[in-house]
This record gives sequence, C-alpha cells and structure tokens, in this order.
Amino acid sequence: MNGTDKAVQRWLAVPDQFDRFTRFLRDNGILMPTRIGIGVLVFLLGVTILLKRLGTHSVQAIGFPLDVVVAVLVMIGGTALPFTATTRERSYLFVIAGDFAVAVIVLAEANPDQRLLGCLVFGLVGSYIAFFHNLRAQLWHLLFSGAVIVVASIGVFTDVPSGLSDVLGRIAFAIPVITVIPVVTQIALALLSNDAQSSELDPLTDLLNRRGLSRRTSELLQAKSGLDQSLLVVVIDIDNFKHFNDTYGHDVGDRVILRTAYRLHDWARSDAAIARVGGDEFVVVQMMPLPYVGDLLARIAPIMNSPTGEPLSTTSIGIAIHNGAWPDVQAAESGLRDLHRLADSAMYESKRMGGNRVHSIVLTDQQPQQPQRSDGRSVL
Ligand code: GH3
Ligand code: MG
Repeated sequence: MNGTDKAVQRWLAVPDQFDRFTRFLRDNGILMPTRIGIGVLVFLLGVTILLKRLGTHSVQAIGFPLDVVVAVLVMIGGTALPFTATTRERSYLFVIAGDFAVAVIVLAEANPDQRLLGCLVFGLVGSYIAFFHNLRAQLWHLLFSGAVIVVASIGVFTDVPSGLSDVLGRIAFAIPVITVIPVVTQIALALLSNDAQSSELDPLTDLLNRRGLSRRTSELLQAKSGLDQSLLVVVIDIDNFKHFNDTYGHDVGDRVILRTAYRLHDWARSDAAIARVGGDEFVVVQMMPLPYVGDLLARIAPIMNSPTGEPLSTTSIGIAIHNGAWPDVQAAESGLRDLHRLADSAMYESKRMGGNRVHSIVLTDQQPQQPQRSDGRSVL
C-alpha cells in the first residue's frame, strides 16, 4: 500500500463527526442558534422553489406540480427542524431527504439553465456533511449529486437559452461550489479539530481520555449546577481482557475495546462524558432528572454484556448515584470525586463476584447506602 492509499484509508476511517460537533455546539451554547439557522435556510430554500415556479424562466418537464409539493415539504421541514431532537440517524435522514429534494427539483425542470442553477444546492448539502459527518458520507453524496448533475447537463450545450460561454461559466462556478469547497472544508475541519482535541481524546476509541474527562465533567457540573438532578458515575472494566490479547492477538483485543466503546455510546445519553481511562477501563459521567435514571440502569447490562459479536466479551460495572441538588459547584466537584471512588469499588465488587454484572451504590444526603447487588436489573 503506497502513501496516498494509506492517507485515503485514514481519511475514510475518520469517525462520524455528528456527536462530537453537536457536543461542541452545545458546550459553546450555540446548538439551538445553529439549528434555527439551518431551519431558516431550509425554509428559505422552500420559498425559493416556490418563487422559481412563479418566475418566467422555469418550465416543468412534467404536468404534475412536483416542485410545489417539494417546496411545501421543504418549508415544513425547515420549520420543524429547530424543534425536533437531533440524532445522528435523523441527521443522515436530513441529508438523504435534502439530496433527493434537490434531485427531484433539478430533474423535473425542463430549462437546462435552471437545472444547472438548482444543482448548486448540492453544495449546501455537502457543506452540512462537512461539519456534521465524515468523508465517507461526503463521497456518497458526491457520487449521487455527480450522477444527477450528469443527467441534468444533458442538453445544456445544444438546448441553451443563453450563450455557450454563459453555460461554461456556470459549470466552472458550480464545480468548486459543489465539490471542492465541501471536501476542502471537511478536511480542514478534521485537521483543526484533531489538533485541538487530540490532547483530550483517546486515539483508539475517540472517547475522552482522563484529561478530557476532567474538563468535560467540570463543564457538566457548571452547566447543571443548582439543578435538582441525579449525578451518575459509572466505571466499566472488560472481564478477562488479557485473554483476548493472548488468545487472538492485539488487533482483536483492540476490536473488543472499540466494541465496548460503541456499546457505551449506545447506552449513554447524548450529553454524557464518556472516557477510556485505562487499557480496558472506561468511565461515564452523566447528569439527568431522576425519572430517567431507572430506565437507563435497566438498559446497561443488556447493552454492555450483550451475548453478540465474536469473540463474546463481558464487563464488570460499578455505578454510584447521587440524587438531588448540590449546594454549589465545589460541593458537586468533591461529591463527584467521592462518587468516582464508590463506583470504582462497586466495579471491583462486581469483578470479585465473577464479573458480567452490575453493582450499584445510591448516595443520599452524602451517605452511601449499603451496596445493592444486581444481576443486571435496575436497582432503583
Ligand atoms: P480482569 O477481568 O480482572 O479485569 O482481568 P483483565 O484480563 O481484564 O486484566 P487487566 O484489566 O489488568 O488487563 C488489561 C490489559 O489490557 C493489559 C494490557 O496488556 C492490555 N491493554 C492495554 N491497552 C491496550 C490496548 O490499547 N489494546 C490492547 N489490545 N490491549 C491493551
Ligand atoms: Mg479488565
């Protein structure tokens, strides 16, 4: 494999940026403004399609007013966007819906000049992917938009209402807008964020390292200080991890670590701080209203110790929970350290009992209750 192949492989392996970028926006207090901004932009695109319909240059290739239907759907989507909870899956649906909407508008247009103009909107979808997703998603988008552009270009040289040089000028403008700008933005953002965050991230799993965990948990406590919420510290250690390295090799060991990291992502809430703090040891810190805790605890054992995937692996889990508000941030930080210690000893208790289990300690009025054993069920 030569250097270029390796670089391409590395870029294609860059994990999806949705969770990381959403967290960045939330941490900086601009998640809602960003969502409103994207919603307004989408709404205005719907308005643009409607106005294009009223204009004199647009001609529909089919009898049915498909563009009006798409415009209304786009306007509804833009209005709903800021009020809909965002997840990575919904974000991908948004991208797919965006690409299909552009394709429908472009291909239903009979005027080749207008078709080329419509293709420019692919550049906006590509820019969204550059911020929220990865290069793999960008390449799929480019493949799809490229195919639509080729079909849309049929007739531009033979059937042009404007002159040939106008069309060539538009093509020369469209190529960077649709392809070069999103891809270069994506690569530059990935380089910048790697540079800024590599000191706080674990390179294997892309989870936080100890240092990142410390910064994120301080932010979490500051952001939620005074709120009457439950604080959970969860310590997870893979059972008999050395066995995977010794039996199947280090690469398989790495895969088991990665699978554990993915399972933690599946289990934890989107605003949780998830860290890999040692070879096979993980810590999750999260704050949430009390009613959500029971459901979260009920899900941890089935997800973390799911009997799926080869080689099978299990974990020992220790959870320490504090319910209720802290008097101030300092009290919360010292309480967090206590919880971490308790979660650690709860994890060792799970390990001592043979692993593959959850052990929880609930703290009320700063006093730990008797440890409660669990075979994976909710302990609250
Ligand atoms: P226990 O059930 O008591 O936790 O036993 P264990 O075998 O899991 O023991 P331990 O947690 O001490 O094992 C951690 C091992 O993880 C030791 C080290 O060689 C290995 N390790 C540390 N970092 C990595 C890594 O990045 N990749 C791989 N494959 N192995 C690692
Ligand atoms: Mg271990």
